[in-house]
Amino acid sequence: MSRSINLRERHLAAVTGGVGTKAIYAERAENAQLWDVDGKRYIDLAAGIAVNNTGHRHPRVLAAITAQAEAFTHTCFHVAPFEAYIALAERLNVIAPVSAPAKTMLVTTGAEAVENAIKIARAATGRTAVIAFSGAFHGRTMLGMALTGKVIPYKKGFGPFPADIYHAPFPNLLRGVTVEAALSALEALLAVDVDPARVAAFIVEPVQGEGGFLPAPPAFLEGLRTLADRLGILLIADEIQSGMARTGKMFAMDHSGVKADLVTMAKGLAGGMPLSAVVGRADLMDAAQPGGLGGTYAGNPLAVASANAVLDIIDDENLCDRASHVGATIVNRLQDIASRQGMERIGDVRGLGAMVAFELVTDRDTLTPDPATAAALVAEAERRGLIILVCGTSFNVIRLLPPLTIEEETLNEALEILEASIEATLQTPITAA
Ligand code: PMP
Repeated sequence: MSRSINLRERHLAAVTGGVGTKAIYAERAENAQLWDVDGKRYIDLAAGIAVNNTGHRHPRVLAAITAQAEAFTHTCFHVAPFEAYIALAERLNVIAPVSAPAKTMLVTTGAEAVENAIKIARAATGRTAVIAFSGAFHGRTMLGMALTGKVIPYKKGFGPFPADIYHAPFPNLLRGVTVEAALSALEALLAVDVDPARVAAFIVEPVQGEGGFLPAPPAFLEGLRTLADRLGILLIADEIQSGMARTGKMFAMDHSGVKADLVTMAKGLAGGMPLSAVVGRADLMDAAQPGGLGGTYAGNPLAVASANAVLDIIDDENLCDRASHVGATIVNRLQDIASRQGMERIGDVRGLGAMVAFELVTDRDTLTPDPATAAALVAEAERRGLIILVCGTSFNVIRLLPPLTIEEETLNEALEILEASIEATLQTPITAA
């Protein structure tokens, strides 16, 4: 019996099925490659879900973590604060897409950053309601689930959720939800359902991640900013998936130039170590009373050291430019594949920097989502040694999130495998509804 099959059996017996997983059991990884316990090599276009933007085991990340481990691994920032946390805050305050002056707090997971952003928005405004968007993903905690705009698999069976959370439509130009329609639905919500004077914040992903890699059109973000300013509502940008050079700029908000009041970041921030941040306007960040924010492990020294190294690497290796190049290379190839005869089940190819996706549909006229083909393609790619992920409210979108440090040669090899997998999968008829 292979080690993978053996581990699968132990896994299914010992670990709750509620934690959904692939069956790729990792043994080691290096930049954009990962080897499983049976020695099978994969090219990793998931990057730990947009975490390893600087690749697996970047030498400077490893060196920073090792040096920090030699000094101390945990003090609890509430008990004995340390310089690296302060230095990271100083750096994030400068680069975050918020109006200066800014301040920062560090926590551990994306969901925790979202929770804290909402706490800060409520404390600063004295208001309670929050408006999120359909298709959004903001985490698996109670408030994260409440904000998330997708029932299966995130919310089903887990309620009731915290009150005073509302959802408005997110623009989807492919499926006819225009910016104007989305903004007027939001205005309608404010007229019909919730008094704007009670709304603390809008929370928006500048590129929806789990929802299907849908970029918010700049006009939508501008519209939100205008409405927020008019009504005294704060704008929170959830950059947990789209931040840290992923889209070709440090933050996806930078493409529009729209400033948020509070920004959440995590994933790519610390190169594989668990770390998240809320960065926001200093006057808002100071609204919470001392002791109201933080946590035992919040701003873990190893993770903070890693994040400081990641910011250096993004600068020194020009990873924003690299993200644009990698993204354009993938999009061009996918568009070429999609233009061929027999590829009509590729309904759309889109990307902002290296946050690239394509939709699988039954046909291009109806654009009916085709999750069965998406699942078959993921399985085919895995057989051929390529890790890719599905997303989208209908599970029909393939998302590609390569490490931004991926070597040109490895990227080309990945695209060869992807093309062969697409050809093999799309040549077979649709099997399931
Ligand atoms: N917000 C966004 C936009 C995300 O993509 C995610 C994770 N996919 C989260 C929040 C939650 O992050 P975590 O899983 O670290 O709690």
